[in-house]
Amino acid sequence: MCYTDQKIFQKEVHFIIFCPVCKSERIVKNGSIHNKKQKFMCKECGRQFVEEPENRIIPDETKELIDRLLLEKISLAGIARAAS
Ligand SMILES: [Zn+2]
Repeated sequence: MCYTDQKIFQKEVHFIIFCPVCKSERIVKNGSIHNKKQKFMCKECGRQFVEEPENRIIPDETKELIDRLLLEKISLAGIARAAS
C-alpha cells in the first residue's frame, strides 16, 4: 500500500460511522455539542447521536483487514461486521 492510498484510506475510514439504532451507513454531520464532539444524524431513522468509539471502525490492528476487504469491494457494512 503506497502513501497516497493510505491517505485516501484514512479519509474514508473517518466516515465509517454507523447509526447505533438501525446500523445504517447513511449518516450526515449535524453540528457539534459543547465538548466539540461531532454530532451526527441518521438519514434512515432520523436518530441523532454523538460520535462514540464503538460507532467507528478504527482499531489499528484491523486496518490491514479492512484494507483487504476494501480491495475486494465489500460494502462498508460488510467491513464493519467483519472487523467488529
Ligand atoms: Zn438509523
